[in-house]
Amino acid sequence: MPPTPTAPRQPHWIVRAHWVMRSVSFVNAFAFFSIHLAGRGYATWVWLLLALQFLVYPHLIYRRACRAENSQRAELQNLVLDCFLMAIWASATGFPLWITFTVLISSAINNAISQGYRGIFLALGAFGLGTALGVGIGGFQLIPEDNPWITGLCVFGLSWYLLGIGRIAHTRALLLRTVREHLKQREQELRQANDSLQQQLAENLALQRSLHEQANRDALTGLFNRRYLIDTFERELARCTREGQPLCLMLIDVDHFKLVNDGHGHQVGDLVLQELGRLLAGEARQQDVACRFGGEEFVMLLPGLPESAAHERAEQWRRGFSELGQVRDDLPGTLSLSIGVALFPTHGATPETLLRVADQALYKAKTGGRNRVVIHDPTEAAAAMPAPQPTACYDAL
Ligand code: GH3
Ligand code: MG
Ligand code: MG
Repeated sequence: MPPTPTAPRQPHWIVRAHWVMRSVSFVNAFAFFSIHLAGRGYATWVWLLLALQFLVYPHLIYRRACRAENSQRAELQNLVLDCFLMAIWASATGFPLWITFTVLISSAINNAISQGYRGIFLALGAFGLGTALGVGIGGFQLIPEDNPWITGLCVFGLSWYLLGIGRIAHTRALLLRTVREHLKQREQELRQANDSLQQQLAENLALQRSLHEQANRDALTGLFNRRYLIDTFERELARCTREGQPLCLMLIDVDHFKLVNDGHGHQVGDLVLQELGRLLAGEARQQDVACRFGGEEFVMLLPGLPESAAHERAEQWRRGFSELGQVRDDLPGTLSLSIGVALFPTHGATPETLLRVADQALYKAKTGGRNRVVIHDPTEAAAAMPAPQPTACYDAL
């Protein structure tokens, strides 16, 4: 199978910039070296080498860098090679002053720019080796050279080279500024994205909280619902057991509520339930759990409430509800509640038992004439009660 042709690699922009500068300044160097060597009897191969060095070499090393895996790294090596070769030419031709200064400083400066101190040390090392080799080839000689053409070409070449480096530095600064602005913009975008994510997260959390709240609330009264009571009862019992505290359970049922609906309409019936919910929640302590258990039945879970205070609390609600009917024009005149009370640990230690005995007490309140509070009495309950009536209360549990 024929090899797949690969697209020519694009060298780093700095490699191209160096290529342009090196090609032009080496033509200039070819000129001043030629003037320096002219008339000194150098062999033809020296002239050929001169042409190879200053007219062909820049393109060879440019091609090498272009083909390299990492063109920038290859160019760094080219810069050190420049130093080595320039030192050979300067030393082998008798250290002509302007020429030596021009070729050495212009090859060293790029190393310093590209690699800082490391570049300077590499350049100095390359100079040392090149000089040793140049002196070895040409023998040590000093030909300071005062030809004004050479001086002029060197001054021109050096000035052009330094200005070229200044231009590259300018391009580099522009690039850096563009990169910095791009980074700043990206940072701003990221910050905005982060802010909106945080906001979304907060909204999600709020939504989650509100959904959780809704799932535990009764829509009509805003009290907790049966599901919440079931979740909470066990936990509250465990806590009261652990802390050695009592717990009071009240089953509250509106008396003859069917008559309210029949006589005043369902809407008034709803309003009565809402007002009862407000009354129960309004007088509840922070640790109390007020629930609508279903229909016109409500449950109050009162952790820490002792037996001595239970009757009085239930009475407050019973009286408060009756007074509502008397003071409010929009509610039926006669409103009353029956309340059955069970206490932990006296009457039971599980939600099922406590709900059952509270239901028995409520039954007793109803059969005893309604509009009253009955606290469960274990001594008479068994004898007085007919067969226990299964109620929705413990069906759910
Ligand atoms: P008792 O004194 O024995 O408790 O009699 P009662 O009429 O209160 O009890 P009953 O169980 O016979 O009737 C309860 C009524 O409550 C029947 C039902 O239509 C009504 N009800 C249940 N839920 C709602 C509600 O959300 N809104 C309204 N307006 N009425 C409801
Ligand atoms: Mg009722
Ligand atoms: Mg009922």
